[in-house]
Amino acid sequence: MAENGRQRHPAILAVDDEPAVLAAVARDLRRGFGESYRIMRAGSGADALELLGEMHTRGDQVAMLVADQRMPGMDGTDYLLRARTLYPEAKRVLLTAYADTNAAIQAINEVALDYYLLKPWDPPEDQFFPVLEDLLTTWKARERLAAGGLRVIGHRFSRETHELRDFIARNRIPGSWSDIELDPEARELISKHEIDEERLPAVVLEDESVLVQPSVQELAEAVGVAARPASDHYDLVIVGGGPAGLAAAVYGASEGLRTVLVEREATGGQAGQSSRIENYLGFPQGLSGSELADRATIQAQRLGAELLTVNDATGLRVEGAGRTVELTGGGELSANTVLIASGVSYRKMPAPGFSELTGAGVYYGAALTEARSCADQHVVVIGGANSAGQAAVYFSGYANRVSMLVRGSLEKSMSHYLIEQIAQLPNIDVRAGTEAVAAHGEDGRLASLDMRGPGGELANERVDACFIFIGAAPRTDWLEGVVARDERGFILAGPEVVDQGWPLERDPYPLETSVPGVFVAGDVRSRSIKRVASAVGEGSMAVSLIHEYLGSA
Ligand SMILES: Cc1cc2nc3c(=O)[nH]c(=O)nc-3n(C[C@H](O)[C@H](O)[C@H](O)COP(=O)(O)OP(=O)(O)OC[C@H]3O[C@@H](n4cnc5c(N)ncnc54)[C@H](O)[C@@H]3O)c2cc1C
Repeated sequence: MAENGRQRHPAILAVDDEPAVLAAVARDLRRGFGESYRIMRAGSGADALELLGEMHTRGDQVAMLVADQRMPGMDGTDYLLRARTLYPEAKRVLLTAYADTNAAIQAINEVALDYYLLKPWDPPEDQFFPVLEDLLTTWKARERLAAGGLRVIGHRFSRETHELRDFIARNRIPGSWSDIELDPEARELISKHEIDEERLPAVVLEDESVLVQPSVQELAEAVGVAARPASDHYDLVIVGGGPAGLAAAVYGASEGLRTVLVEREATGGQAGQSSRIENYLGFPQGLSGSELADRATIQAQRLGAELLTVNDATGLRVEGAGRTVELTGGGELSANTVLIASGVSYRKMPAPGFSELTGAGVYYGAALTEARSCADQHVVVIGGANSAGQAAVYFSGYANRVSMLVRGSLEKSMSHYLIEQIAQLPNIDVRAGTEAVAAHGEDGRLASLDMRGPGGELANERVDACFIFIGAAPRTDWLEGVVARDERGFILAGPEVVDQGWPLERDPYPLETSVPGVFVAGDVRSRSIKRVASAVGEGSMAVSLIHEYLGSA
């Protein structure tokens, strides 16, 4: 039942079979969040699911589901699991007694729980409000991104449309997209703005101006993302805005270095594409990569780092003590020191058909923007490492069926916790020893895959979308002849550069490359550990070494 008449507010639904506890939860929720949310309640999981079904039919928004773990018939975890299919974006909170802590920790995996709260939580000001406030802020930010702002109009299976959608999502630009084939509003928009249907995608900006078939760069400039540098000389230029680069930006700026970060696509790097990072210290419920990227980007900017996105470093010049990073479009940044944190990018699938269908049903990485469109579909995830496992778990919340094609076996390449999670999800099937050998399209989009099974047998299967995670390689060609690299293109550092043309008497610092004053951090470093935490650690550590370098230069 609704507790007040403000139908247009998003809802928070609390479920508990004990009336007194339910009343107390609802009271605290109302006190903390009643201004902006409708507080609803139900006495059992079954009643709550019925209510959610009705709300879903009406198109109501649900921001958060709060459920007690111990309820007869259907426990809290089971209820949240079912509720997830109706409202996958709603934040999920479990209320538990201390004795149920293990069940709550288990639920983190089973239902991608966002938080578990131990009862009682007195005073709510300390234990209850801050946690829920944080979750609701994240939910709101996501909804705001999807609700307002610009509109991309195009065909779902068009590579150009996908690139624009991916760009706005990864740069967290408020906006949404409309499929010209399915969404009547898209037709209204093109008629209102006299856009030629043959010339999609188009973007209607907030001020109602229209971009027809814009490139990502043109869109970036129109929304003010591709900023120009504020200065022509910096203490530190960071190339790459993944976890390593962002950590360096936070430490560099906070420690008084004039710091600028150059990022080719969107801050967050590979981590920004992760649907859920579960092993980053201090986040027991895991956190989404875009949330991590968002928080780190805001933190770096607040501390004074300058961010230049949609800018590609294309060259590095060394002139005496000066270092110059060349950018696409002819710009350059002069610096005392440079940190290369450009990470790695996905390897492309060599089999026939994949290249032509990229962006039209075939995607590299998790392409989280596609998740909502995968409802009731058959999705294939190719790869057996953690990134593929995370994607399979994520898409299983949307798609009808997810098939994982793994060349070897999961046990060889994936963390134990993910293997367990996958085993518990009935709509994921893992096909060990199976590879995709060709992709076929129909009407310009992916329609089926040819797969070779463990015994060499070939089969063709209808597939709606395919997400590829088959390893990654550094893109460091722009450093050719300037900075020493290993045979696979990863950048050498520290003791490894001593016999690689190291020019000084002193030893190189641990993360220093063969060019003094040019440092490297994260996945792009030769023999690095490919993890968020190690990238963050190296980015932070590099700044301290840069201080030493600047102090001694
Ligand atoms: C889907 C997925 C899930 C993952 N899950 C986990 C996990 O759960 N736990 C975990 O610990 N690790 C995880 N990883 C690995 C982790 O994300 C990486 O180890 C980490 O992001 C490396 O950080 P980085 O800053 O070194 O590089 P990256 O994250 O690769 O960032 C590099 C950035 O540099 C930019 N760039 C590259 N070249 C240039 C250039 N020339 N000019 C300007 N910019 C450039 C790129 O656009 C990119 O944004 C996951 C990876 C993926 C892909």
